[in-house]
Amino acid sequence: IDQSLIRNFSIIAHIDHGKSTLADRILQLTHTVSDREMKDQLLDSMELERERGITIKLNAVQLHYTAKDGKTYLFHLIDTPGHVDFSYEVSRSLAACEGAVLVVDASQGVEAQTLANVYLALDNDLEILPVINKVDLPSADVDRTIHEIEDEIGLPADDAPRISAKTGLNVQDVLEDIVKNVPAPQGSVNNPTQALIFDSYYDSYRGVIIIVCVKEGSIKVGDHIHFMATDSVYEVTELGVRTPHEVKQDELVTGEVGWIAASIKTIKDVHVGDTVTTIENPASAPLPGYKKMNPMVYCGLYPVDNARYSDLREALEKVELSDSSLVFEPETSQALGFGFRCGFLGLLHMDVIEERLEREFNLDLIATAPSVVYHAYLTDGTMVEVANPAEMPDPTTLSRIEEPYVKASIMTPEEYIGPIMELCQNKRGEYQDIEYLDDNRRNVIYSIPLSEIVFDFFDKLKSCTKGYASFDYELEGYRPSKLQKMDIMLNGEVVDALSTIVHKDFAYDRGRIICNKLKELIPRQQFEIPVQAAFNGKIIARTNIKAVRKNVLAKCYGGDISRKKKLLEKQKEGKKRMKAVGSVEIPQEAFMAILSVD
Ligand code: GDP
Ligand code: MG
Repeated sequence: IDQSLIRNFSIIAHIDHGKSTLADRILQLTHTVSDREMKDQLLDSMELERERGITIKLNAVQLHYTAKDGKTYLFHLIDTPGHVDFSYEVSRSLAACEGAVLVVDASQGVEAQTLANVYLALDNDLEILPVINKVDLPSADVDRTIHEIEDEIGLPADDAPRISAKTGLNVQDVLEDIVKNVPAPQGSVNNPTQALIFDSYYDSYRGVIIIVCVKEGSIKVGDHIHFMATDSVYEVTELGVRTPHEVKQDELVTGEVGWIAASIKTIKDVHVGDTVTTIENPASAPLPGYKKMNPMVYCGLYPVDNARYSDLREALEKVELSDSSLVFEPETSQALGFGFRCGFLGLLHMDVIEERLEREFNLDLIATAPSVVYHAYLTDGTMVEVANPAEMPDPTTLSRIEEPYVKASIMTPEEYIGPIMELCQNKRGEYQDIEYLDDNRRNVIYSIPLSEIVFDFFDKLKSCTKGYASFDYELEGYRPSKLQKMDIMLNGEVVDALSTIVHKDFAYDRGRIICNKLKELIPRQQFEIPVQAAFNGKIIARTNIKAVRKNVLAKCYGGDISRKKKLLEKQKEGKKRMKAVGSVEIPQEAFMAILSVD
C-alpha cells in the first residue's frame, strides 16, 4: 500500500441532513457494494438504527476509488451519528481521520449540530470539506446555505459540491474533493507501532473485536498486541478491514483502519481510546486519548425477574464495550431488588441503551425515572454526589442542595421567540441572550436546570415551534436551588424507586399530579391502596386506589373456556412488566409517573 494514496475521512452533519444517504452513494459509486446488496442507510446495521432511521454507532468501511488523475486511492469512510447524545461517538471517529465531509441540507441550512460537529472536527485538526446536499428539493436554497456556511462557520463554500445524495447528482465531485484536499495519514510504517482503539464489540466466538486506526508502524497476524492502559497482552489471531463485509488481511499498516481479533475474553482489558502497541515493535508512550464524557442523566435498571441480575450485568458489560460513554454500578432498591444505577449522555442515549439491552440480550427491564446528579452539601461542610434521589441525605444533615444548570442554545425562526421564552421561563430558565444569526433566524440562549430539560422540554419545544427550532445544550455548572426530596408511599410504605427531587415552589402541584397519575396507572387490587406524597416530613397529597370488586373470571364461570384462557393470557401479558412491591403490583409506566408534569 502506498500511504500517500490513503484518505481517512468522516461524514459529519446535523441529524437528517443526509450523511447516511451520502455514504450509501459513495459505496455504490466506488462499487464497494453491488447494486443487489444495496439498501438505504446501509451502514446503519443495528436493527434499532434501521427502525428509527438514525445512526447510533459509528461504522468504518474501506473502499477503493479510481480518481480522475488515474490513480486508485484507498479510502476509509467513517459514518457518525448526528444527535447531541452521541457526540462522544463522533469525536472518537474523528480522532481516526484527517478530514471531514460536512454535509449541509440546502433546505435547512446550518443548524445546531452542524456547528457542534464542526467544533469537534476543528478540535481534531481536520480538514473540513463543506458539501451542499438535497439540491433536488424545491425548497433548496443553495445561495443562502453557502452564505450561512461562510458566515456562521467561517469556511469558504463557494466551490463546495452541490449534490443530491438521493439521486447521486455530483457525488463524484465529493470524492475528487477528498482526494485533493484531505491529507494522507502522517505516521511511518517504520516507527514503533501505535494504533488507536476507537471502537470494540463482543463476538461470541472470537471474543472482543477491536476497531483500530494504525497511526504508526504495523500489526500482523501472530504479533503480540499490548494494550497500554491495562497492560495486557494478546496474540493476534485474525485481522482485516470492512468493505463493509469483513475481509481478512495479513497485516494492517500505518494509515489503515481495521479490526483485530485476539481471543480476548476479558472485556475489562479493552478500553476504547487506549493505544495498542506490539511486543515485536513496542512504542514507549501511548497516543493522546479522548476526553472522557461525563454522564448527564442516571436511572436505575432492574430485571423484572430478579434471577436475571447477573445476565443484566453481563449485558451491560458487553454494551459498554461498544459504547464507552455508558457507566453503571450495582444498586439495591427496597422496592425493586438488585439492579444497576446507569449513567447516560442524554435521554435518547438512555432510551437506546435500554432498548438494546432488552433486544440484544432478551431482558425484561424496569427503568426508574431519569435523574440528574445533585450536589448535596452537608452541615459538616462535605459534599456528596447524589445520582439517585432515594439516597439524598436526611434534610436535618443538609445545608444545601445544588443542581446542574445547562446553557441551552435554541436556534429558531424569529416568529417563535415568544413561545420559546415562555417555555424557558416555565422551566425555571434564566434569560441570557438572543443572538442575531441572519434576517430571519435567532439563537435564543437561556440557563436552565438540567432536570427541567430531562422532563419534557424537547417535546414541548418541538410543539411550540412546529418543529422549526433546533436545540443544543452544554453543562454550565452547579447552582444552589430550593430543592428537597419527595417520597411516595403506597399502602403506607415509602417506595424508594419513586422518590424524586423537586423544587419547593412546585412540590404541592407535583405531589398531587404524581398521586393522581399513579392512581391511573396502578391496577386495582384485592384491597384499597392509599397513595401519598410526603415532602419535608409532611403528607402533601393523597388519594386511594379502590379495591377490585369482583374476580374478573367470575363472569365467565361455567362459560366459554377459550374466552377464560384468553382473559388469563391477557392478564399474564399485562403482568410482564409488573413488579411486586410489598403487596402492591406496580407496572413499568408508574415509575415514570414522577416525570409527569400535567
Ligand atoms: P442522516 O441523519 O444525516 O444520516 O440523514 P439520512 O441520510 O438518514 O437522510 C435523512 C433523510 O433525508 C432521508 O429520508 C433521506 O432519504 C433524505 N435525503 C438525504 N439526501 C437527500 C437528497 O439529496 N435529496 C432528498 N430529496 N432527500 C435526501
Ligand atoms: Mg444516518
